[in-house]
Order: sequence, then C-alpha cells, then structure tokens
Amino acid sequence: MLQVRHLVKYFGGVKAVDGVSFEVGAGECVALIGPNGAGKSTCFACIAGQQRPSGGEVLWAGQRIDALAPARRLARGVARTFQVAQTFEALTVLQNLQLLMSAGRGLPAWNVLDRTSVQAATQLLARVGLQPLAHADALGLPYGAKKRLELGMALAGLGEGALADPQGRSPSPERPRLLLLDEPAAGLAGTERLELMQLVKSLAREGAAVLYTEHNMDAVFGVADRVLVLIEGRLAAQGTPDEIARHPEVRSRYLGHSFDAARQAPSHA
Ligand code: ADP
Ligand code: MG
Repeated sequence: MLQVRHLVKYFGGVKAVDGVSFEVGAGECVALIGPNGAGKSTCFACIAGQQRPSGGEVLWAGQRIDALAPARRLARGVARTFQVAQTFEALTVLQNLQLLMSAGRGLPAWNVLDRTSVQAATQLLARVGLQPLAHADALGLPYGAKKRLELGMALAGLGEGALADPQGRSPSPERPRLLLLDEPAAGLAGTERLELMQLVKSLAREGAAVLYTEHNMDAVFGVADRVLVLIEGRLAAQGTPDEIARHPEVRSRYLGHSFDAARQAPSHA
C-alpha cells in the first residue's frame, strides 16, 4: 500500500504541495485530479523519486521510500509514466519494452537487445494492445500507440516477474506494484481514451495499486474507484466518484457547470 503523509514540496518560494496525505491500496484505481498547477505531477515526482520532498513521508509496502533514488524505488515496484510521452525513438516498439524489461540487470548491449527478454516483452506487448506494431519504430507511432507504449514501458521497468501471467493470475504478493500514471490518456479522444482507461483499470484489477491524473471527467467517473482532488497544493476532497461529483467546493472550484451535462452524455456512461 502507498501511504503519503503530510507531503510538502517547495520550489523556491512556491509551495507546490502543501501537506497532502492519502493512501492507495493494492488493487485500487485512484484518480488524482485538479486544475493545472495544483501539484499533481509534483506529487508523482515525490513518490517516484524525481523530486525530494521538502517535508512529510512516503511509504510503500510499509517502508519509507522518500529518500531513495528513482531506480531503487523502481526495484521495489514503484513505476511511473510522464506527462509528456518518453520513448526511445530509434528503437522498435518491442525493443523499447525489451530495453526497459532488462534495464534492472544493467543495460543490454545493442547487439543482444533483440535476444533479451523476448517472451516477457512479447507478452507485455500483447497486454498493452501493441502486437501489430511490434516491429514499428517508436518514432512515427500514432499518438495513441505511443501512450500505450509508454504505459508498457512503465510496466516493463518493473522487470519480468512483475507481470500477471498469461492466465491473468496476479504477480506474487511479495512483488507489489505501484503504477503512477501522469495523464495516461492525455491527447486521446473518444473510444481510444476510454479503451486506454479500461486497460489502466484492468492493471489495478490484477493487483497493482494505480494512481493516475486526468483532466477528462469521462476518464475519472466510471473508471476510478476513488478520487483525490488537489487544489493549490492541498487535498480539497477525497471520496468515491459520486461523493466527489456532489462535493460543493470541488464543484465550484474545479468541476464547473459543464460537468453535469458531460456526465449525462451517453458516451460518458
Ligand atoms: P500539475 O501537475 O497539477 O499541473 P505541477 O505539479 O506540475 O502541477 O506544478 C505545481 C506547481 O509547482 C506549479 O506552480 C508549478 O509551476 C510549480 N513547479 C512544478 N515543477 C517545478 C520545478 N521543477 N521547478 C519550479 N517550479 C515547479
Ligand atoms: Mg502535471
């Protein structure tokens, strides 16, 4: 389980995160929402290790991780994606996964990459729905495929044993996984967005703790088990999607008036 306690992060005089506490359990799919600049990405960076918190604690599986380097957090099962998709463009889709899959053991030499983690990378490729594009270069991938690849790379970074097996059985409980997904569906529309969010949700159902940010409410309501609302660095509310939809402060400060109309639309059911 992820436990964030009184997390604070300053950038100079800017208090980007201001005393935030929340938890995410194994198997839970939790959305972190809020306006631009609310501190969502900074929370992720403090949890995954790209930023060092100014105060507070981050615990994963019962242990403090907030002073560990990102690679050491990854080795403990904490993986993230970034708001702007980051892939190795000179490599194929499959090679990107092979590279990340084996990176924990040290980077494979270029000439053995194609023989590295073939089975596990191929299984993961299918899991994120990219089998038809296995040998396409990452450069020039359609945007939706790139977002899927990025998700696959975050999973690959957890290593071969961290995936559910082909029968869908969860990875061992000794290898808990935390997926921090910063706008996993950003820039996607309609069906593509909803399909990606179903994939995200299925990863939680296989036992991962999933925390994701998102601006489109159709990727929050109907997907998340629980919603955290961050406004100006503070947790303004947390609860079930229905509780959040009714929350007066969240409605007036974030969701706005177009929200009810959007929720009624058939494609958002
Ligand atoms: P969100 O992801 O919710 O849009 P961010 O976490 O990116 O918000 O940003 C929160 C606040 O922290 C903003 O005021 C932003 O300008 C500031 N901030 C974020 N990262 C940095 C950084 N590396 N250096 C300085 N200020 C930053
Ligand atoms: Mg952000």
